[in-house]
Amino acid sequence: MTQPLLQRYRPYLDLPEHTQLVTLSEGNTPLIPLPRLAEQLGGGFELYVKYEGLNPTGSFKDRGMTAAIGEAVGRGAKTVICASTGNTAASAAAYAARAGLKAVVLIPQGKVAAGKLAGAVAYGAQVLQIQGSFDDALHLVVELCQRHPIALVNSLNPYRLEGQKTAAFEICDVLGAAPDWLCLPVGNAGNITSYWMGFRQYNQLQQSGLPRILGVQASGAAPLVLGHPVEHPETVATAIRIGRPARGEQALQAAEESGGRIIAVSDEQILAMQKTLASEGIWVEPASAAGLAGFAAEVEAGRIQPRGKRVVAICTGHGLKDPDIIVKSMPTPPQIAVNLALIEEAVLAPTI
Ligand SMILES: *Cc1c(COP(=O)(O)O)cnc(C)c1O
Repeated sequence: MTQPLLQRYRPYLDLPEHTQLVTLSEGNTPLIPLPRLAEQLGGGFELYVKYEGLNPTGSFKDRGMTAAIGEAVGRGAKTVICASTGNTAASAAAYAARAGLKAVVLIPQGKVAAGKLAGAVAYGAQVLQIQGSFDDALHLVVELCQRHPIALVNSLNPYRLEGQKTAAFEICDVLGAAPDWLCLPVGNAGNITSYWMGFRQYNQLQQSGLPRILGVQASGAAPLVLGHPVEHPETVATAIRIGRPARGEQALQAAEESGGRIIAVSDEQILAMQKTLASEGIWVEPASAAGLAGFAAEVEAGRIQPRGKRVVAICTGHGLKDPDIIVKSMPTPPQIAVNLALIEEAVLAPTI
């Protein structure tokens, strides 16, 4: 059995003594090479996807949640709360259940993918829909936690970031060094902040090198590219549909210090990359395709020359989380009678 993340990397994580081990065997996600896609982008470089959708609740949020919930239960909290576009809710609900705590999640009404909402409900969280945005929901839970002894487990909670650093450590451990480029989607900006903290820390300890970081937002929800908050963020990539990133300053700093940048891609580019990844056997939710979509756009525009480089794209969440987006875009499968000749005809017909 592989060691739980918090045990394996404990010396590198700034967690209080009282933190308990609350684990569902998160982390240790694979780095999957994508030679065919690298070839399509000009070739001559190594391209990997770190498939974070293979975490216990289907997203990278589990890395932070094992730490945040472990800390909360260790200090005697009975209830945890978060605002969520979906994946944080499912993760908080699962880890709270594991630790025997009550979980409350606030989600923006009607904007959460079916698989995420179902997860939160399945794990037994109290789910409240807010007639407002994610940003409104986050504001409310912060206020609530100031009034009551309820533990906040959004990425404003520093232990979430500590746990999420482990993804950077894993990449260095598997590749033997940091990659040249790291590409990832940016929403509330906790993850990009954690990766940069993790890579810097490992580099100090083990001279593993530092990546340039390409953070990617959706063009309808790109406050860090525009330089101001977005009142009504809109994108199919619901996990990054955030207009006021809580860690925006740190995200900009991470991009700049690393010699990278934060850019935006359109929903069309995101969905096209979701398709491309699926054609490689990797089905991710739309937000998860944004990092690689941004990288591909930069390469195609000649703004990144990948030749000779090692590139890692973070695919943050599983495609099963948001099946509607695929189901809605596909034609209804044809209905065919139980008849061999008809099936034969359909199977052998040329595909377009
Ligand atoms: C939470 C999430 C993001 C955004 O991460 P931030 O830390 O908020 O920037 C991206 N993709 C998926 C699938 C997520 O669940």
